[in-house]
Amino acid sequence: MKKTNLFVSILLFLSFSVLQVSSLTQTNQDFEKSESSRTLEQGQEHAHEVHCSRERSRAAWQIIEKYLMPFVEHEHYEIPSNCRLHPDNDLFRDQEEHKIHLDINEWQCGYCKKSFRAEMFLDQHFDNRHYNLLNVSGSKCLADLCGALHCDAVMNTKLSKTKCNPASVARNHHLCEGLANSCFPINQSPSARRLNEFFLHQFCHAHTCSGKRKLFPRGGKKHISVFYLAISILTLMLLPIFYLIVYLHQREMRKGTQELRRISKVGQKTKPS
Ligand SMILES: [Zn+2]
Repeated sequence: MKKTNLFVSILLFLSFSVLQVSSLTQTNQDFEKSESSRTLEQGQEHAHEVHCSRERSRAAWQIIEKYLMPFVEHEHYEIPSNCRLHPDNDLFRDQEEHKIHLDINEWQCGYCKKSFRAEMFLDQHFDNRHYNLLNVSGSKCLADLCGALHCDAVMNTKLSKTKCNPASVARNHHLCEGLANSCFPINQSPSARRLNEFFLHQFCHAHTCSGKRKLFPRGGKKHISVFYLAISILTLMLLPIFYLIVYLHQREMRKGTQELRRISKVGQKTKPS
């Protein structure tokens, strides 16, 4: 009797604790749900204000920085402010410059010093907390130039093997030529003329459906990777050690042959003739 009582009470206790745990997780889930829906709502609240992709704007900026600016700097040319490639015409430039990358998994907001685990969360933070700092006046969306600047090829979103669409290629070519003419007006200066030619070659000529299209044929800024730097330093350090080992080994070998010669000479002498 006592045993059954004990058994029943244990069973009751177990079922009660299971119920409690499940209710706890339920409330937790509810909380998470409300949290996520709130951030979603917040996102939607401001989404209608900015019709410009931050990610694509960033890709466009990276292309400009890598494949255009080194050549512009080489010519000591100043991009006019009416040129859509000018940094002031990038809606997100100020926010992007307020990103502090402290460590692989640590990003900090330059405005309020709040830290985040990933760049994506910092982007969300900018959208939610600092959207008022965006300069939304005028058409300043760098992402709109992605067609001309080949962002897709750099972002790897669309494979270049997709079928060529003549209409979109013509549109992008037109956009590209417009950029060349507004940013580098031919009759302004010799350097502007050279850069105009360069821009057409580097960005615009690839907008074609016929033949081979090579993106950025003049190349871009060379980045010395940390890996190569480490390898070369290591090689420089190991080279003297390698030669020392080879030298010591050869010296040992020479000693060995000399001793052998001596032994063989002694052997020849003792041989009866
Ligand atoms: Zn902030």
